Amino acid sequence: MTEYRKYWDEEIETMSRGKLKEYQLSLLKNMMELTYNKSPYYRQAFDEKGIKPQDLQGLEDLKKFPTVNKKVLRDRQQAVPDFGDMICAPESDFVFLSASSGSTGVPTASPFTSQDFDDFQDFQARLFWSSGMRPTDRYCHALNFTLFVGGPDVIGAMKLGALTIWAGTIPSERLLAIFKTWKPTVTWTTPSYAWFLGESAKENGINPADLSIRKIFVAGEPGGSIPETKQAIEALWNADVYDYYGLSDIFGACAGQCEYKQGLHWAEDHILVEVVDPDTGEEVPEGERGEMILTSLKKVARPLIRFRTGDIVSYTTEPCACGRTHMRLNGIHGRLDDMLIIKGVNVFPSDIETVVRQNDKLTGEYLCVVTEERHMAVLTVEVEKNKDFQGDVDALAKEIQTDCQKLVGIRPRISIREAGSLPRETHKAKRVVDKR
Ligand SMILES: [Zn+2]
Repeated sequence: MTEYRKYWDEEIETMSRGKLKEYQLSLLKNMMELTYNKSPYYRQAFDEKGIKPQDLQGLEDLKKFPTVNKKVLRDRQQAVPDFGDMICAPESDFVFLSASSGSTGVPTASPFTSQDFDDFQDFQARLFWSSGMRPTDRYCHALNFTLFVGGPDVIGAMKLGALTIWAGTIPSERLLAIFKTWKPTVTWTTPSYAWFLGESAKENGINPADLSIRKIFVAGEPGGSIPETKQAIEALWNADVYDYYGLSDIFGACAGQCEYKQGLHWAEDHILVEVVDPDTGEEVPEGERGEMILTSLKKVARPLIRFRTGDIVSYTTEPCACGRTHMRLNGIHGRLDDMLIIKGVNVFPSDIETVVRQNDKLTGEYLCVVTEERHMAVLTVEVEKNKDFQGDVDALAKEIQTDCQKLVGIRPRISIREAGSLPRETHKAKRVVDKR
């Protein structure tokens, strides 16, 4: 067997935290100059705050700069077609754009220059390498290609040297046929699709654990960092699940798990991460939950300065057993948009998922339904009992309530349904229905 090197880019990946911060600061200073000088939007936003690029002397000065969010990106694109006035390179330098659809139906473009795109793919190769993918692997790319920033990640796998199979999002029977014919060892989907695909294989008389898949990369939903969900997918496929995090406005994957699978390593040489209290904007201590704000350090087509993601995360800078020094997300706990406030308690669907998936009397599917009674939000969790469950349904409901009380701090109503009765989404599962 070929002995491969341990890291894709040892110098960057194992740089001391002190050096990494110095490197980030030099990149950030350049980024502030670039955005102030090239983007009318950023210049005006900085001027309104009375701040100049040279006011950034240390990384701690970043918090003085204004934030942007998805709405700003969308509004600027509409105000200054076709790409908005946050771009910092001429269109002649653009070679690729991805787009996020968003709820308004107007796709927002995320353009890349040739250098941006090369950086993107080099980083995808680095992440794949850190998750143990090697040139001897066969990688079946099962993510959407249409305008989606995760599509071109398959090029990162090519760059790494793996044999790539460009499947995309095709019907599950066809994907399973590809799995059987060319025996890929690695694939990438959402957690709910990995679950769905494994279950459909079983329905068709195929045991997914007997197929060749040994690594599954997942992104797009919190499931990959919920131990109960991850273990269930791993058992189904007899494969290791690696959680990834991507953002259409930056890279297909911005962070991912190394082979130790203890959190998701960031690309801190490409992206600077802040975690803040969403209400006060103050930085939260390491290990505590807060909203993630991202600043791109190298991308020039449309740089992002302090982009509020709306994602609730926590992180650690403790050294990882793999030797990589870049910070790790403990997990993506949910989206600020999905956060429910029930009797004053912040509840994420991912917390409910943990309770549901650890209970072997249930199928693992669930739906959070929110209604209003006497001006109070009421949460009902709909779950499915397993086909072979013969016990007392009321006792089961009580058991789930008690588990919720322990883990989430609330006692939701529980509605127990027959196996297979909840809607199944193939790619991105909808977990909340708000009827208020
Ligand atoms: Zn690691």
